[in-house]
Amino acid sequence: MKKKTPMKPHHLAKLHVHKGDTVKIIAGKDRGQTGRVERAFPRLERVIVEGHNIAKRHLKPRGPGQPGGIIEKAMPIHVSNVMVICTECGEPTRIAHDRVPQGADQKVRVRRICKKCGKPIQERSRTTGGE
Ligand SMILES: [Zn+2]
Repeated sequence: MKKKTPMKPHHLAKLHVHKGDTVKIIAGKDRGQTGRVERAFPRLERVIVEGHNIAKRHLKPRGPGQPGGIIEKAMPIHVSNVMVICTECGEPTRIAHDRVPQGADQKVRVRRICKKCGKPIQERSRTTGGE
């Protein structure tokens, strides 16, 4: 039973959750817990949260060097099941997007704004990661 997740086209693949964010899980077996986003998969609208949504994979022995057994693997969680924890007020919040010219070139960049305190969310990672 393997269901394929539909991929979004690149220009629509934007998440409110970024790699390096701290998020609160609001659904599933790990609900109520918080963790850091290890990888983001914008085209799948999913993220991997460090140490959460662990699935046990049962591997068959495949000859010498691969004895098989059970490995634990963090599975991606749909972004609708997590909330970003604001870096300013520390609350799980919804995100507003704000387009403002920033930096020396005054290029319009999107900032994420906390809906609770109204301050911009700090980006913890400049690299996008994932695929
Ligand atoms: Zn806030």
